[in-house]
Amino acid sequence: MAASPFDLSGKVAVVTGGNGGIGLGMARGLAAAGAAIVIVGRNAAKSRDAAAALTRDGGRAIALTADVTSRTETAQMVKDAVAALGRLDILVNNAGINIRKPPQSVAVEDWQQVIDTNLTSALLCTQAAYPVMKAGGGGKIINIGSMLSIFGASFAPAYAASKGGIVQLTKSLACAWAPDNIQANAVLPGWIDTELTQAARQQVDGLHDRVLARTPAGRWGAPGDLAGIAVFLASRASDFITGTAIAVDGGYSVSG
Ligand code: NDP
Repeated sequence: MAASPFDLSGKVAVVTGGNGGIGLGMARGLAAAGAAIVIVGRNAAKSRDAAAALTRDGGRAIALTADVTSRTETAQMVKDAVAALGRLDILVNNAGINIRKPPQSVAVEDWQQVIDTNLTSALLCTQAAYPVMKAGGGGKIINIGSMLSIFGASFAPAYAASKGGIVQLTKSLACAWAPDNIQANAVLPGWIDTELTQAARQQVDGLHDRVLARTPAGRWGAPGDLAGIAVFLASRASDFITGTAIAVDGGYSVSG
């Protein structure tokens, strides 16, 4: 029987923000498909625990500590990943934060922190990964957007700007690096139950019920709901797909 088009055996994936939430959900999917995983975050103990959990489940995983807003730390992280696992085929730019304030109250420091963490980080990590992927014959970049890549939100102007930007960055990476056999795509998760959205539900009145009412699937998403799209976009099954933004949202974005 021919090998599965979704098989990731022999591939190495870096997942930023992979120590919890959506990042860990995607890392689990990639590991189950055969990829070795590099979990990246600032919290070293949390990253080590996540890597240990993947290893216990039969995968191969290591943890590296880096702040994705730092050019030096992201460059070192990619060097260390390649030194430890020999190559780099898949980069998931998932690390992200939100600072919830209306536009009139957003300090420029808040703005900068959200843009640096959610958008500039993706540029820094892809710049570090590009020469390695190119030398290895190709690669897959998966950038995590949001419903706020499409919609606005009164409480999240910087976040929405960062997530709109991630979609446009993805298109540019796709155009620039297609000749190098590197595909870049964005994933737009709907409302997923994680630490990030537990905080959102505490801060934004009525959010939990509004999301439920608008989501045709009738539930909030779980981190595991992102595993399939991660495997698909990391595998040769998606080799002719680049520059797209795919919603994984239980129908939220198509519901009137
Ligand atoms: P979590 O808060 O659970 O996870 C965020 C992750 O990002 C953590 O692993 C954190 O690790 C890491 N991180 C944050 N800042 C940095 C930094 N400066 N350097 C390195 N790592 C960092 O959130 P989610 O899992 O919910 O979110 C993951 C991504 O998905 C984000 O980009 C978010 O915007 C996006 N998203 C989430 C949705 C949801 O409903 N949950 C919906 C749409 C998009 P550490 O603290 O160790 O650094």
